[in-house]
Amino acid sequence: MNDYDLLVVGSANADLVIGVERRPAAGETVLGSDLAVHPGGKGANQAVAAARLGARTALLARVGDDAYGRLLLDSQRAAGVDTVGVLVGGAPTGVALITVDPSGDNSIVVSPGANGRLTPEDVRAAGSLFHASRVVSTQLEIPLETVVEVVRSLAPGSRFVLNPSPPRPLPQEVLAACDPLIVNEHEAKVILGGAAAVGDTPEDWARILLAKGPRSVVVTLGARGALVASAEGVSRVPSVTVRAVDTTGAGDAFTAALAFRLGTGESLAEAAAYAARVGAAAVTKEGAQESFPTSEEVAAL
Ligand code: ADP
Repeated sequence: MNDYDLLVVGSANADLVIGVERRPAAGETVLGSDLAVHPGGKGANQAVAAARLGARTALLARVGDDAYGRLLLDSQRAAGVDTVGVLVGGAPTGVALITVDPSGDNSIVVSPGANGRLTPEDVRAAGSLFHASRVVSTQLEIPLETVVEVVRSLAPGSRFVLNPSPPRPLPQEVLAACDPLIVNEHEAKVILGGAAAVGDTPEDWARILLAKGPRSVVVTLGARGALVASAEGVSRVPSVTVRAVDTTGAGDAFTAALAFRLGTGESLAEAAAYAARVGAAAVTKEGAQESFPTSEEVAAL
């Protein structure tokens, strides 16, 4: 059995993208650009991002027995991800139908497909992957009961990293396991719900989130960088100035880089500073997985 720096448990989607002049009204048909098909989904993105940085990475996910499933397996393997944990069948591969208008705004319909069939039983059956991994990261594009089983399956001494996206209220058992919980501004507000007050700063959000049970919290702030919070206090992570071309996948690249570096023994502040450089590099190129940097590209930034 291999040892892994990072086990990612999560979603794998085919992103189907069409450019449109405007979106159709009910009952209407409009013509769009040529179709572009990209491998995506937060789990698949994180695994590719980590592997590209040099992390020994495994993915636990489910895809359909179809062409999109094969596209996703191919892109994982091309990046060097171990796909022994990618289950095939049970439902069609998850798909995101994305239209992009001339102003760059997206409208997205997601069919979770096989992602919704990644079960707690699948997690239990992958116990050897958990025992071989220093860090386990996940997101919320798979069933919540599966995320709960991930927490219960952590090997002694391994670390759990959660990006709660798309955000929803979390059971205490999951919150208490996060080290860290990684949220952007939107996710912070949803997880905080009524606990966030008008006028609260991101530092306030981090403190209030930390009081809800995670061992540590990271709030990402786009071009303004990020901040980290733990029992030692709240501190700013320096932002990195780049010319942003496309911010798709920046959060996935950040989370993957942070999870990988925590597993190598770096402190939360050190790992977050590295992750901010990785996130910044990812926004300098178009696309999600296509934009994720190698460690050499991060060093050259
Ligand atoms: P998400 O994609 O989840 O909304 P953010 O937009 O906060 O997450 O981006 C994640 C991280 O990527 C940020 O904390 C920052 O370090 C980096 N990043 C994102 N956008 C930029 C940018 N325009 N310039 C520099 N760094 C960026």
